[in-house]
Amino acid sequence: MGGLWVGVGWFGLARRRVADNTVVFAVRRDWPDWRTHEFVAPRLTLAEAERAAQAEHAYWRRGPARPTVSVVRISANDLRIHRNRRDCKAPDCAVGASDRAPRPS
Ligand SMILES: [Zn+2]
Repeated sequence: MGGLWVGVGWFGLARRRVADNTVVFAVRRDWPDWRTHEFVAPRLTLAEAERAAQAEHAYWRRGPARPTVSVVRISANDLRIHRNRRDCKAPDCAVGASDRAPRPS
């Protein structure tokens, strides 16, 4: 059973299964203190992923630990595999899909 569930539609609340070779957009959290990162909130479109990233940003800025949030392009397969890695520090994982920096708020 391959594939990955991605959020679609309004704020990604609906879900759809996509094939492993589908390229999706996901939010990347970089934790500067630990130099680790993770990918969350897969979406089918850049616009929806950016919206998810803004929600992430707004969420974490209230807390003591503040990850750097960015949007990346990644295949569904890579993202699914990456979920099984804890505290990933690999330098060659997907980075910044968007040229636009996260909007300061
Ligand atoms: Zn990684």
